[in-house]
Amino acid sequence: MNDSRDVASALARQQEKADAYVRIENITKMFGGFTAVDNVSLEIQQSEIFCLLGGSGCGKSTLLRMLAGFETPTSGRIFIDGIDMAGIPPYRRPTNMMFQSYALFPHMSVERNVAFGLRQDGITVAEISERVANMLDLVKLTPFAKRKPHQLSGGQRQRVALARSLVKQPKLLLLDEPLGALDKKLREETQFELVNIQDQLGVTFIVVTHDQEEAMTLSSRIGIMNAGEIVMTGTPNEIYEYPSTRFVADFIGSVNIFSGRIIEDEADHVRIESEEAGCPLHIDHGVSAAPGASVWVAVRPEKIEIGREDPGQTDNCVSGTVDEIAYKGSQSVYHVRLDSEKIVRVTRSNRQRTARDSISWEDRVFLNWRSSSGVVLTS
Ligand code: ATP
Repeated sequence: MNDSRDVASALARQQEKADAYVRIENITKMFGGFTAVDNVSLEIQQSEIFCLLGGSGCGKSTLLRMLAGFETPTSGRIFIDGIDMAGIPPYRRPTNMMFQSYALFPHMSVERNVAFGLRQDGITVAEISERVANMLDLVKLTPFAKRKPHQLSGGQRQRVALARSLVKQPKLLLLDEPLGALDKKLREETQFELVNIQDQLGVTFIVVTHDQEEAMTLSSRIGIMNAGEIVMTGTPNEIYEYPSTRFVADFIGSVNIFSGRIIEDEADHVRIESEEAGCPLHIDHGVSAAPGASVWVAVRPEKIEIGREDPGQTDNCVSGTVDEIAYKGSQSVYHVRLDSEKIVRVTRSNRQRTARDSISWEDRVFLNWRSSSGVVLTS
């Protein structure tokens, strides 16, 4: 029984491997003695929007540049559509790269900018005009076809750059901080447009960004990078709700992390003693850690209830004093100081114009959360 299950899962894994559109195998890139990308392995499926997310200098652009062929890996292999990319120059890869600076030609009109790459490829004039017209239509720039880049807004210039990268019909588009030059509001609008365009064309996108909200909005999956390594891959929901380490939990969104020791470990729950929290922590999933082991519990601020009444529960219930309140319009953020001096962050959405039980500075409050709200982290 077990044998046949093992064979089935091995076959499934093999199938997954065969299907991956981009397969990165143990890629390392050294610059002199410095390791910029450290033994990264990754599989990306066709038509995915995969975001590489990480802080400055973590190696995301270097990884993207190796996919494009602008950098040569020190070791490891890259396969695109089953073909080993070793020794294949950028112009012969099924990829195109869109840079943050856009690099539009200032003296050329929008349509000539978009047509530029096709002219270089020796495509007929009739086909060029048809493909450029279709692409301008897709990015909603037809009325601006005759303008020069300096006569466009930042968002429109971004769409010209996108049209120019897509007109050559790459199978894989590599985007390095594609929305980096736009202000916050325009970025948010453009994120949706980018997803719609990708959805219509079905091209695989690999996007480099340091903006976590952008990664969450755009991606089918995210790879979190730190110091040259991929530390977790998953859907935006998996990364946010089930982070694998304290680094990932802390990197995405804001989080409260309580340190503690395991006192009860069953298949369906664990209980953790935490001096920092000042109450036992109960979590509705088991972990594979030894009894007494040091662990951490991550609880997101929006999953914590705050109130002046004692809810009368022993586990996952702490009390403290309100230290700070930040009113942010759609929500309020409370910083509550526990007896252990730990500050816990709680967010509450402002559904009513005036809150019935408004909480003020220096108020004594109770915080509680469900067993399903915490995640146990072992590293
Ligand atoms: P950012 O978000 O700031 O662009 P990044 O994650 O894209 O950062 P990379 O550009 O991939 O980072 O750089 C990773 C590391 O490799 C950095 O420490 C950088 O200084 C170093 N590096 C990149 N290119 C070179 C190079 N040609 N020579 C030497 N070091 C380099």
